[in-house]
Amino acid sequence: MSAEKPGVTVLASSIAERYVGEIAAKVEKLKASSRPQGPLLVGFLANDDPAAAMYASWTEKTCKSLGFRYELRKIEDKDFLEEAIIVANMDDSVDGIMVYFPVFGNAQDQYLQQVVAREKDVEGLNHVYYQNLYHNIRYLDGGQQLKSVLPCTPLAVVKILEYLKVYNTLLPEGNRLYGKKCVVVNRSEIVGRPLAALLANDGATVYSVDINNIQKFTRGEGLKFSKHQVKDIGDYSDGLLQECCKDADVLITGVPSANYKFPTEYIRDGAVCINFSSHKNFDDSVKTRASLYVPTTGKVTISMLLRNMLRLIENSQKLKGSK
Ligand code: NAD
Repeated sequence: MSAEKPGVTVLASSIAERYVGEIAAKVEKLKASSRPQGPLLVGFLANDDPAAAMYASWTEKTCKSLGFRYELRKIEDKDFLEEAIIVANMDDSVDGIMVYFPVFGNAQDQYLQQVVAREKDVEGLNHVYYQNLYHNIRYLDGGQQLKSVLPCTPLAVVKILEYLKVYNTLLPEGNRLYGKKCVVVNRSEIVGRPLAALLANDGATVYSVDINNIQKFTRGEGLKFSKHQVKDIGDYSDGLLQECCKDADVLITGVPSANYKFPTEYIRDGAVCINFSSHKNFDDSVKTRASLYVPTTGKVTISMLLRNMLRLIENSQKLKGSK
């Protein structure tokens, strides 16, 4: 694609619109039935990170505009956070819980993620949800009743790829990325690795890049919903990354650094580029190569969070109804 015919920027707000409408309609139904005041999301803020405070106020705004109630519980002493989460877990008036991480900034944060009751875990961070994702299991109960939830950011990227029509709806569900090559630059446990698995489970070949090495994720052979396969393909080098990008249809970045810029010359003409990092990982020249460019994903992520919350409420209602 030449500079005279640049690609198009697609904003997360436009992508989120469809979900915003769906979510607002479901909340109205809930208000008319079991939750007249609207479902309640509780956010725990136990750090003094301005980015977390901003995310919290943004969550509150979105919640309120869609008919949810939102309560921010500020925890002055982080050693009391675990107890505060347990109290919210036991409180029937609380439908969803989220914690603004990092709190301790180490493995204790992973423990705290698991303290949040699975039934209220709107971010989808519970290990059962991750395990289902990795094993390509869509339901919690072995049947077709209680749908599992997915971690919000990886799910948001999937929804973005659906919106951009990278998912081919002529193919059967579960294989709609068949033939697509994706590169994901980030392999954190919270976003990059689950994202690579989700895309591979949907049929893509995914090069998962981190600072140390590059792995190839592919769809499992055989059974319809079989687990993806992972293969190490080499230590990280610019040359290997460039090789993986040569015929990549999709490039997704999540490098948490203001200095990092994905090399524009690695982008195949016409590829789709998506950045979920809070830093701009692509520079302005990205659209001289990319056909579609999504600079941020936050607004879709928050829609997924609220969508997850509605799914958790639906699951709990189904469980109550079946007793
Ligand atoms: P992280 O630090 O846990 O992981 C960063 C990943 O990027 C690692 O896999 C690392 O190896 C890789 N990486 C770093 N530098 C690299 C380089 N030069 N080349 C290749 N790979 C490199 O961070 P995270 O929690 O995944 O967050 C990443 C970014 O995404 C942040 O900007 C964050 O704000 C944003 N984000 C995070 C979340 C979340 O839920 N954690 C959600 C949405 C967006």
